[in-house]
Amino acid sequence: MSLSRKAAAEYQLQPTVLQEQLDDGTTRCNLCLWRCRLKHGQRGFCQAHVNRHGTLYNLSYGILSAIDIGPIEDKPVKHYRPGTTVMSVGSYGCNFRCGGCHNLEISWGVTALDDLAKGESTAAYVSAEELVKTAIKHKVDGIAFTYSEPAVWLEYILDVSKLAHAQGLYTVYVSNSFVTDEALELMAPHIDVLCSDIKSLEDSFYKDICKLAKVEQVLGSIAKAQQLGIHVETRTNIIPRRNDDMKMLKNIAKWIHQNLGADSPWHITKFFPSFKLAHLPATPSNLLNETAQLAAEVGLQNVYVYDDKGCDCADSNLSVASYLEGGADSIHQVKKCAASCCGDEGILLKKYETDQEKL
Ligand code: SF4
Ligand code: SF4
Repeated sequence: MSLSRKAAAEYQLQPTVLQEQLDDGTTRCNLCLWRCRLKHGQRGFCQAHVNRHGTLYNLSYGILSAIDIGPIEDKPVKHYRPGTTVMSVGSYGCNFRCGGCHNLEISWGVTALDDLAKGESTAAYVSAEELVKTAIKHKVDGIAFTYSEPAVWLEYILDVSKLAHAQGLYTVYVSNSFVTDEALELMAPHIDVLCSDIKSLEDSFYKDICKLAKVEQVLGSIAKAQQLGIHVETRTNIIPRRNDDMKMLKNIAKWIHQNLGADSPWHITKFFPSFKLAHLPATPSNLLNETAQLAAEVGLQNVYVYDDKGCDCADSNLSVASYLEGGADSIHQVKKCAASCCGDEGILLKKYETDQEKL
């Protein structure tokens, strides 16, 4: 079931755009392939969707964890409007738990989402209209949704993208592609570019970061996006001792060649030690270059090596407020839902479950 909504001018919970009530009394979120089945009071794996009396709501609608402005090539995207500038935004909540995540504070945001659920958050809220106005003010050519998996706040992405297209801006979706076909179909008319990770061709690699994820699902989602007419580019971050097997890397190149085309861009990025993988070395340059050589041998024509770049991180460190008119006071007020339908329970349940058994 796809719910239609109006874009929100002020912070309030938004009905999850893909949800389905099941016979067992749970409601299923169909945004990403977790397909969380939630009871009243439970939140999904990403922590950004909650079931209230049978209806799912997105907590993080319009809540920005970071903004950055830079070349589209930094996403990395090289074959769509090269030389143009994009405003990147992200929110809290991700459907993966990568051991080497560089975006922990601005992506998983478990504490930030807890605060939102309790009605105690002062995180930045920016309406879809305000975000597009901000993009125009900064004279960018497009808006990119990145830093965590964007499916987790698809409600906002759809609203922003429709307004962005109406203003002549393009839209970019930077993804891990653990996303449902329904979500892809919903976003396809409004998203111009998908830059997706292919992290590995080993199920065991994916299982480590998301116990349900399978390679076949991720690849299927990437191919589906291209079939739906989205411009697709892929990226592999090579992590020493985790996904650096040359045969496997060559097979990624082969898969891209066979399924996305010989001219489909593949970005090979460097791993920098971080978080749970801080003990591993950075990717040696020769490994990055040898992988590119293998890709050329299988016929891939557009392979890019980044010896200085890993994840798509917000690196300017400017606050969200610094990009907006009106300053910090207006966007950082305590987030109380503008709707009054919660009744005596307040913005959310006083007590909620975090669904820890899924973590
Ligand atoms: S992880 Fe989040 S976005 Fe994915 S299905 Fe669960 S609640 Fe929905
Ligand atoms: S690296 Fe990306 S997909 Fe993985 S946990 Fe971090 S934000 Fe999520």
